[in-house]
Amino acid sequence: MPFETAKMFCVECGAEGPTYQGLCARDFLKKHPVVAPPEVLDIERCTSCGSFRLKSGWSKIDRELALTGLLRETIPKLAPWERVTFTHVAREEDANNLSLTVKALGRFEDLQSVQDFRVRVRIKPSLCDSCQKQRGRYFEGTLQVRGDGRELTPQEMRGVRTFVIARVDRAGDPAAFVSRIEEVHGGLDFYLSTNALGKALARELSESFGGRVSSSPKLFGQKQGREVYRVTSLVRLGPFHIGDVVRYKESLAEVTSVRPFVILRDLASGESRRFKPKDVRSAKRVDAERFEAKIEHLESGQIVAVHPKSEEARPVRPSPKDRTAHAVVVWTQDGAYLSLLPPESSKP
Ligand SMILES: [Zn+2]
Ligand SMILES: [Zn+2]
Repeated sequence: MPFETAKMFCVECGAEGPTYQGLCARDFLKKHPVVAPPEVLDIERCTSCGSFRLKSGWSKIDRELALTGLLRETIPKLAPWERVTFTHVAREEDANNLSLTVKALGRFEDLQSVQDFRVRVRIKPSLCDSCQKQRGRYFEGTLQVRGDGRELTPQEMRGVRTFVIARVDRAGDPAAFVSRIEEVHGGLDFYLSTNALGKALARELSESFGGRVSSSPKLFGQKQGREVYRVTSLVRLGPFHIGDVVRYKESLAEVTSVRPFVILRDLASGESRRFKPKDVRSAKRVDAERFEAKIEHLESGQIVAVHPKSEEARPVRPSPKDRTAHAVVVWTQDGAYLSLLPPESSKP
């Protein structure tokens, strides 16, 4: 017997040709809808931030993307269709009611089927987890900013506040926010939505302002079967800032670095020395100005700096090496000294 290729016939209409599960393409498409669409779908939308709730959780996406996600996850595909995709056009009946015209495209072997249907979508006003937490003054982590053996200056308070707020805004993460800020004696407390935010801010503050970081977790309670900790992150801003003039032991010095070591530059000799921050805690800050001053060489051989406002002249130490006409000086109650730092742009 010669071998013959089996002929394929549709069991429904008897047509000859390729078959899909025993049916010709036409009968197969007729018998197998792609999806069984419901009449109504609901989706929650946060009235505060506009996020939509999908199965994966709250997400800050636009309405079209949310609707695509909603169709994909709520309308089950029917066997044997695979890789079903949806496209839709939304018509707004009112702000919270949409009429969707949808095309569902299904694939099976080399066949494709498009099914058109309409579905109403009701947008349910709600409040997402992150907005709910925020409204409830929710916090998990605390960030404490203090001075190292001293109170923060008003300037530092402003600087730290601005730094934290700008950093949180820039991150643009709806789950990371500041619930409240409290000014406590000599420092600032930030109540934050997550422990991780507190830790990150503590590290970044210490890098920018110079300081030591420590943290202490405290068991707070249980949430969905797991233990919840509230972590207090503490930054102690170093005793000095770059530019401070301090009296340490017998010498008067300007602070030229605070991290990782404090570098004190002796104003009279111009020599710099490096210290661990804890070793110079006894240094006392001295009132001083730093500005660019006119340098005059007197006939007596003395070299003086002239205060730009009062025009008072004081001998300047150490003597400038060259015959410069201007120099940045540190001006204290008892003298004028050459400085290595730029002049203060403005005194607050
Ligand atoms: Zn057929
Ligand atoms: Zn929200």
